Amino acid sequence: PAEAILRRQRVRESAARTYARSFPIVPVRASGMTVEGADGRRYLDCLAGAGTLALGHNHPVVLAAIRRTLDSGAPLHLLDLATAEKDDFTTTLLESLPAEFADGARVHFCGPAGTDAVEAALKLMQTATGRRGTLAFTGGYHGMTAGALAVSGNVAVKEALPSGGEVTRLPYPFAYRCPFGLGGEAGERVAARYTERLLDDPAGGVLPPAAMILEAVQGEGGAVPAPDGWLREMRRITAERGIPLIVDEVQTGVGRTGAMWAVQHSGIVPDAMVLSKAIGGSLPLAVLVYRPQFDGWRPGAHTGTFRGNTLAMAAGAATLRYVAEHGLADRADRVGRFLTGELTQLQQRLPVIGDVRGRGLMIGVELVDPAGEPDACGARPADPALAVRVREACLARGLIVELGGRHDAVLRLLPPLTITDEQARAVLDRLAEAIEAAAR
Ligand code: PMP
Repeated sequence: PAEAILRRQRVRESAARTYARSFPIVPVRASGMTVEGADGRRYLDCLAGAGTLALGHNHPVVLAAIRRTLDSGAPLHLLDLATAEKDDFTTTLLESLPAEFADGARVHFCGPAGTDAVEAALKLMQTATGRRGTLAFTGGYHGMTAGALAVSGNVAVKEALPSGGEVTRLPYPFAYRCPFGLGGEAGERVAARYTERLLDDPAGGVLPPAAMILEAVQGEGGAVPAPDGWLREMRRITAERGIPLIVDEVQTGVGRTGAMWAVQHSGIVPDAMVLSKAIGGSLPLAVLVYRPQFDGWRPGAHTGTFRGNTLAMAAGAATLRYVAEHGLADRADRVGRFLTGELTQLQQRLPVIGDVRGRGLMIGVELVDPAGEPDACGARPADPALAVRVREACLARGLIVELGGRHDAVLRLLPPLTITDEQARAVLDRLAEAIEAAAR
């Protein structure tokens, strides 16, 4: 039946499908980091629901929370009425957030996906400031609905027309393919100065915007961490000009980068945070959390039918608690350092690895043509065809990885935070073998 399922899916479903669905496997069971196909083959899952599965597949604590809620007779769908499950989730979430941000913050439950929370954030800041434009960054990714897409950078790849208001795109300080041909601290400083000058230049063509939106580590953009100093500069520049700062932690949140929330590395306090993916414990959930002074909405100003599902809240609260109680952010930091360290070693041996980067368990391996002309920062041309071959070679060796980045030439590793040392070793071995085989 697996063959038939794959055939029917290919015929019936949109050709735009992506991620694991483009893999020729029909998963029937999953546990932790392991996915089992209908043919009995087992795979280590380094995609983990695009970073959703902080605790891996079917974690017993998450399953128990879902079962308990199901058996309790609690209403599963109640629009946005008050429930004990929502109360518990909200309390747990606020307790997990940095205190300077969470103290007095408002929580808005959004339609089930990350992109819905991004739309809500952009719209809220337009209401709160009475302005329209948004500042966003090259390489950013915020979702697929009109407003979220408009503030994403890689629109050409997504074959979409950006719409949703005036967006000023600013350079993200990507050390490897660096803007202005300047890497390191010099590049970071120039990127910040450019932003500041553009905003202050009366002929810069930028009206005072409603918000700035950024990721502290770009995910779909290819696991690109922003330097902490640059993030602090963005916070200073926006604060001085009264521009609300929205940090999109849809992918970075819940321990993935080695801190519970990625903003904690730099210590910046945003005006709003957009959260989804892991906060639902593998079920769909998205929230916008913001400082109370931006609460400019009247009742009914921003509604939606599926705003916070009871099961997702129970699964999410259990996940947030488990990550905190078991120090999984520290674990992500430790295993992340081990993986990036080993991959950097591998880079010495395999010149098709142009760059290894990331933070915690949000890791990118950029594949390049080693014979190609280096750019001003020394980066070789990306090799997306090789990346596709490596992804296939990984799958043949029982490893699920996805691609991302500007040229779709970055292998993205987003394993569950519960990955064991043994599994981390196996990921490295399979990845090294796959890259070697594909590059041959
Ligand atoms: N923001 C970021 C940073 C993301 O990584 C994603 C999804 N990859 C989104 C927003 C959109 O989330 P969703 O796919 O759930 O709409």
